[in-house]
Amino acid sequence: MSHIREHVLNHDLFCHHDHHRSYQEFDAEREEYDFRHVLGYASADLVTAAGTVTPRGPVTREEVERYWPKMRLTGYGRAVTLTARELFGLDYDPANFDAITAALQDSIRGRSAPEVYDYFVHERARNRWTIQDGKFRCSTTALEPGTHPESYRFAFRFDEVTYLADAGPIQTLECFLGHPVYTLDEMVQGINEAIDRFRETGKLAAIKIGMAYSRDLAVLDPTRAEAEAAFNRIRTRKAFWGGVQQNNAAVNAPEARALGDYLFHALVQRAADEDLPVQIHTGYLAGNWGSLAGTKALHLVPVLEKYRSVRFDLFHASWPWASELGAIAKNYPNVWVDMCWAWTMNPAESERALSEWLDAVPFNKIFAYGADTGLPWSNVGYSLQAKIGIARVLEQKIDAGYMDEATAREVASAIMLENGEEFYGLAG
Ligand SMILES: [Zn+2]
Repeated sequence: MSHIREHVLNHDLFCHHDHHRSYQEFDAEREEYDFRHVLGYASADLVTAAGTVTPRGPVTREEVERYWPKMRLTGYGRAVTLTARELFGLDYDPANFDAITAALQDSIRGRSAPEVYDYFVHERARNRWTIQDGKFRCSTTALEPGTHPESYRFAFRFDEVTYLADAGPIQTLECFLGHPVYTLDEMVQGINEAIDRFRETGKLAAIKIGMAYSRDLAVLDPTRAEAEAAFNRIRTRKAFWGGVQQNNAAVNAPEARALGDYLFHALVQRAADEDLPVQIHTGYLAGNWGSLAGTKALHLVPVLEKYRSVRFDLFHASWPWASELGAIAKNYPNVWVDMCWAWTMNPAESERALSEWLDAVPFNKIFAYGADTGLPWSNVGYSLQAKIGIARVLEQKIDAGYMDEATAREVASAIMLENGEEFYGLAG
């Protein structure tokens, strides 16, 4: 094994993005975890592999057995293989499904949820820090201590306000605040009050915007009057609970856009006031059937241009527009590029992206890892997948004569851990 590979494989990571269940959510399903809970994002490739045969996608064991062999070689599939081999010494193969379930249950039996997270996230995946996506709900559970490990910080995520087509998000905010929200100004005030409460926990790390799942990233500058008119109409519109993505037409109606864009600016302005980083989903979307065209980071250029004092952490290598993201990061000093989730979507493209970014962007602006998973054992495979890719890229740089070993180690430590610690103000 090369020295640099050894350095990378044994290095701690800064996980820039995860959606881990709280301890309470984890325990609620403790008895049910089986081989399917190792799949993570691979479920989407099972759907793709099944084509038009099963419109809902493979859900039964027989269906997983039938389509897993067809998609096991994709990045999603390889992450599953890595997790199963690394943790249980088993290939993720239908013949081993029962053994994997047994091994998984064995690994959590007798461990409390905090111990489970400590074992998988800290000990096995070596994720030293995690920025947890804190999706905003009425409940204040996310504000209470004892839901996630001490090493987790939270991103305030209430991006429904950037694509609201009905009163749903307003009602969520009213519920959280415990009082009604009658006007646009009260809405902005209420969002800021909610952020205050998250901030008081001392664990708020960022504002997260994942609106690419529901609308494009092109943000205009509506007037306050336009936004207010939209607010007044939308506030009385019955909430549609059928799932945001089915509601795209309403979300993209001009009036909804005026309000959404206005509130997007309110979130970023709050970030500017607090010097809070803004994390934004760009590029490919989880699942299937996502609307990709509006997700490229290039749409954000007017925002990057406008908010020069805000530090933007742009996610997922913006794949399949990773080269564009590199050019953006080279041009805009307020942009950091983030490979969270990218290694599993497309390992080959991620290696190319990291390689070209290292050739174009100062390496203190590159974040090389985030698992973006829901269950702690997934981080073991996702970490390893990222490390394999990072090591390969640095080996190539050394072979090409662009870096010596010591330099490659310096770069690895920065992009895997230190850049994140510095950016989020967390001690090493
Ligand atoms: Zn995510």
